[in-house]
Amino acid sequence: MRYPTPYYLIDERKLLKNLKRIQQVRTQAGAKSVLALKCFSTWPVFNLMRQYMDGTTSSSLYEAQLGYEEFGKEVHAYSVAFSEQDIEQLSSISDKIIFNSISQLQQFAEQTKHLARGLRLNPQLSYSEYDLADPARQYSRLGIIGPPPPEANALINGAMLHYNCENTDFENFSSLLNQIGKQYSTLFYKLDWLSLGGGIYFTRDDYPLEEFIKKLKAFSEQFDLQIYLEPGETAITDSTTLVTTVLDIVHNERDIAIVDSSIEAHMLDLLTYQETAQVKDSAKTGELHYIIAGKSCLAGDIFGEYRTNTPLKPGDQVKLCDAGGYTMVKMNWFNGLNMPSIIIKRLTGHYDTVKTFSYQDFKNNLGPSRGSSR
Ligand SMILES: *Cc1c(COP(=O)(O)O)cnc(C)c1O
Repeated sequence: MRYPTPYYLIDERKLLKNLKRIQQVRTQAGAKSVLALKCFSTWPVFNLMRQYMDGTTSSSLYEAQLGYEEFGKEVHAYSVAFSEQDIEQLSSISDKIIFNSISQLQQFAEQTKHLARGLRLNPQLSYSEYDLADPARQYSRLGIIGPPPPEANALINGAMLHYNCENTDFENFSSLLNQIGKQYSTLFYKLDWLSLGGGIYFTRDDYPLEEFIKKLKAFSEQFDLQIYLEPGETAITDSTTLVTTVLDIVHNERDIAIVDSSIEAHMLDLLTYQETAQVKDSAKTGELHYIIAGKSCLAGDIFGEYRTNTPLKPGDQVKLCDAGGYTMVKMNWFNGLNMPSIIIKRLTGHYDTVKTFSYQDFKNNLGPSRGSSR
């Protein structure tokens, strides 16, 4: 079937593959998983995800509200800094609230006393290839340094650490967890729950899942803790493609195919981390090499490379792989380019267009909605 491009295509069967691994960790290690909404909040697939996960975690009031309304189950609310109004609304919809600092924990102690409360710890250890995303970077504001003082301990029954980023290395995960267990052993014996954050790529085919499960189980038994994981990318990896159409082929030393999308507007995270998109069906040995570029006026609007044996021409589709995480949540109206529609291929094989955008959405985004008159 041919739908107007660009569109994100979420394949529930591929999503299910990740969800089943998450489920295995739940049942075999007893570690619960809450979806990190900052990575993926396309709620029309939550009906499926809910069956395999324990709830959501959030970085803001709106994310928590979405988790509460559309995912259900446990609502974990975390924010680098809450406002009074945030706390007022969160206190009636969240199960757990995780503070980033002792000052905020103390400021909102009274309003949140009916909730499970935690503090974010900064173990000054991390796994990240990028300084930008490294919670242990110099002057990091993410979590408290060192164990909490007694007056803070009295207010919490859990803690959260998020110190992995795109970590595919089980040995590294395991050794960091050992170090953290040593660093905080006194605290961990007192707590009821501990969230290990996201960034652990345990749904990948080559990840030693059995060992991961063993490690989590042993850790949770050692300290008698309910472990939580907060998968973002891990939950949705490889489930989504961004489908685009070639509009033009230009030449400047190399062949450049311009597609009806933009990395800046529709896969911004790649640009932020200076990565490129993988193009579906790109041959390793193809004779023809193309640069796949976006149609915004940004000079560096380049998705990546495409190799093929059949020449590309206007009207051909180009599919960008692994376009589910940190893409739809970061879409923007740069250059006034229409946002990609969102289409879900359901488990039944049925295609469900759940969202389309129009000029009116672009206009309403920065001014009062006037309906479709004028
Ligand atoms: C970003 C983030 C996550 C999710 O990270 P992924 O790398 O997408 O798995 C989980 N927890 C916290 C606190 C985060 O900031």
